[in-house]
Amino acid sequence: MTFARRMSRVTVSPTLKVTAEADRLRRQGVDVVDLGAGEPDFGTPEHVKQAAHTAISANFTKYTPAAGVLEFREAVAQHYHTLYGVTVKPEEVIITAGAKQALYNAAMVLFEQGDEVITHGPYWPTIVDQIKLADATPVVVQTHREDGFAIKASAIIEAITPKTKAIIVNSPCNPTGALIAEAEMIEIADAAAARGLWVIADVTYERLIYDPVPHNLVKILFDRMRERTVICSAASKTYAMTGWRCGWTIGSREFIAQGNVLQGHSTSNISSITQKAGIAALTGPQDEVAVMLGEYRKRRDAVHGWLTADPRFVCVKPSGAFYLFPYVADLLSPTGIKTTSELAEAMLKEVAVAITPGEGFDAPGYFRLSYATSLERLREGVDRMFAFVAALEKSGKIPTATPK
Ligand code: PMP
Repeated sequence: MTFARRMSRVTVSPTLKVTAEADRLRRQGVDVVDLGAGEPDFGTPEHVKQAAHTAISANFTKYTPAAGVLEFREAVAQHYHTLYGVTVKPEEVIITAGAKQALYNAAMVLFEQGDEVITHGPYWPTIVDQIKLADATPVVVQTHREDGFAIKASAIIEAITPKTKAIIVNSPCNPTGALIAEAEMIEIADAAAARGLWVIADVTYERLIYDPVPHNLVKILFDRMRERTVICSAASKTYAMTGWRCGWTIGSREFIAQGNVLQGHSTSNISSITQKAGIAALTGPQDEVAVMLGEYRKRRDAVHGWLTADPRFVCVKPSGAFYLFPYVADLLSPTGIKTTSELAEAMLKEVAVAITPGEGFDAPGYFRLSYATSLERLREGVDRMFAFVAALEKSGKIPTATPK
């Protein structure tokens, strides 16, 4: 069978692959500790669920405008005013099926063959695959664990060529948890503005920041290059709403008009019921967000401490999102486990712990551990991992470590 050429440029999301295999084992009755999932373990807040029930009962179950109902777009505009002090009009907002569709729409509206799009690695693979689906070429600027995976403006600016169309930044970053510093964002925005480039900011984890650092990327971009700024985000991570498919794009009126045409001919509006839930999430009480954030922080600190007690898990303490991204080259060897893909497979098979291999993020030697699960399960997962490593040591596949 022959399929469109664009399909040969992309592969199944490796994060989804791990989840599928873990699911298969679980259905067989295996007690899997799932540290692979990229989603909150918390339930969606009650008042949000109630808004959805009410929407169904009131027959709010018909088509809405493709961009979403005005009330929701106004709620997003107000929300960004509250969070960042910026002025957004409802016609500068499209409601999308998660941040994924927000990013996809942006790629389809902006990129084409011959364009280069700069982003930073290790990256969430969808960002790069969407660039390829839009027939453009991703240009990845690597960040490094030695400086906390800091995203450097100088490296991004150096990667600009006459073919560059856009720069995509993801902060807090999946998988590294790193934040782009405001000073670096300013430099990038100034460089982009001077050259007429677009900046797309994926701020899906914007409310999951653990240290009180100034992080107003939205205002920085709006002040410098409002016309060519695209903000993509979602209710997914902040409000534990991944399954609802609820996100948004904020851009200039002209950009949003194009996105509206695209969405009008593809998915049209997201579920009317989800829209009512999304409005409740943004306009209702925010205390559960703070509770979840506090819980994630506790887990981050605990798991980071446990894991790094073994010097073979070299791990930055991340500032945001809910992932640790340890470097574990010392667990790999030419005669034993050679890659973190093999490591993830072996861990799932031997001790039923699901992690996501670094290869999927273009980061061999690393794996991603999601701490969006209870402290008890995290402790269990780390204990099993350590048992797995001890067995590797015993079999002579890796040298014995000296504890810290
Ligand atoms: N951006 C990043 C960096 C993500 O990690 C994810 C989800 N894993 C998304 C966007 C997409 O989120 P959503 O579920 O809202 O589509």
